[in-house]
Amino acid sequence: MRDFSGDHRWLSLNTATVRKQGDLADIIDACARHGIRAIDPWRDQVAAIGLDRAVWVLRDAGLELSGYCRGGMFTSDIARRQEARDDNRRAVDEAKALGAPCILLVVGGLPQYSRPGSAASKNIAQARTQVEDAIAEMMGYAKQANMPLAIEPLHPAYAADRACVNTTKQALDICDRLDPKRTGALGVALDVYHIWWDPELLPQIARAGKDRLLAFHVCDWLVPTTDILNDRGMMGDGVIDIRSVRGAVEAQGFAGYSEIEIFSNGWWEKPMDEVLRTCIERHRSVV
Ligand code: ZN
Repeated sequence: MRDFSGDHRWLSLNTATVRKQGDLADIIDACARHGIRAIDPWRDQVAAIGLDRAVWVLRDAGLELSGYCRGGMFTSDIARRQEARDDNRRAVDEAKALGAPCILLVVGGLPQYSRPGSAASKNIAQARTQVEDAIAEMMGYAKQANMPLAIEPLHPAYAADRACVNTTKQALDICDRLDPKRTGALGVALDVYHIWWDPELLPQIARAGKDRLLAFHVCDWLVPTTDILNDRGMMGDGVIDIRSVRGAVEAQGFAGYSEIEIFSNGWWEKPMDEVLRTCIERHRSVV
């Protein structure tokens, strides 16, 4: 297992962590100031400064990407299926332009929440079938761009509105069905916030193996959690044994960035430099 205590060369910042404190150019500037080598930007943040400028600013700062957030929201009614497909193809094009190693997929929950305006449904089984069909379709386009897709299983609390893929096993089952030869086109993004509670986690990480482990996200689970979406904890402030999960992932050969992704009303109120300093300190001491 890698020793993170001496430096933060394997720290990547998911830019949602400081989304309220500045635009993407400000965040990239701050990362350069703090010696952070990689980020995972969100599509809306890229769009806000323009894709061309984002590419230029990234290159100028010498930053790498650990992923691109995000594709997915595949579930919709029939009228919005084309919109979902085109939107995901644009995500692939943007990821390619930015030099991302993969696109994170938040697959969508029930159609009315995933693609607002869609006819309401309570059929989660159908949503799951639709997700798998759409990933298969997107893979065709992504393969031409050599862009791997990383399915991020989300905590079951998000099954209705964000993702009906809720466990590592479920995500890996999809990978095995759509990419049985393990070509590298499809894998998983494991975020400790979503998976830490799962009794099957360790055997599923072993099942994933190096070629399916495309991204690793860290934050912490606070007790009590006051807002399931925007009350994530800073690493070390909650109950997740982050280091043991990282150990399991690295035992499979994962050697990529440990990406910090904290959506938190509390941390969004603090100055960007303070947040980044704390991230670096906790990356060394608890991740
Ligand atoms: Zn994540």
